[in-house]
Amino acid sequence: MARRFVCQYCREKDIDEQMVVVKVGKVNKRYHKDDCYGKYLRDQKFKKKEKEELDSLVEAIKKIHGIEVIPNQFFSYLQDLRNGNELFGNIGQKKSKSGYEYYIIEQAYLENEDSINWARNNRDFKGNSFNFLKYTFAIIKNKIAGVNEATKQKEYQEKLTKEQELNQDYDYGLSGVYEHSQTQKGDSDEFDISKFL
Ligand SMILES: [Zn+2]
Repeated sequence: MARRFVCQYCREKDIDEQMVVVKVGKVNKRYHKDDCYGKYLRDQKFKKKEKEELDSLVEAIKKIHGIEVIPNQFFSYLQDLRNGNELFGNIGQKKSKSGYEYYIIEQAYLENEDSINWARNNRDFKGNSFNFLKYTFAIIKNKIAGVNEATKQKEYQEKLTKEQELNQDYDYGLSGVYEHSQTQKGDSDEFDISKFL
């Protein structure tokens, strides 16, 4: 009987023919060709995006507050806002990522830089950056729903404008080009596993 390996995504065992092997250092990790490997890649992409957006947010917060380091305790505040824990009353628990995206939180900080500067100049935080961050975080929490709505609305408008431009190109008789690009898109959307074998 052929040897069976655990899929790192769904934890079910299967024979090698059904799996894609990913080398992580010296370790071979296996994922089901049919579903799990695609899901694994999507997860990796999502995690990378989350990390980049969190890094960018952290840099913005440091710059706006004029601090070098963000105290560890403050990260749970950011994560609760990201996970939507306050909305569902699950503070410090769930990792659902169903709150505000990190780039929206960053946008809220950027838009409220004046209020944060005012707080720094007019309130005494006794040199405690955690107290300062907690104070400005209350401002951000107060504003974030509005920032989120405005940003999403703007993104939606930009998407509409882009689609209208595409349609105009189509109307002006560039249909050949349009159809060609559609075909190419269709091809690249298909998951070609052979590239990874
Ligand atoms: Zn699997």
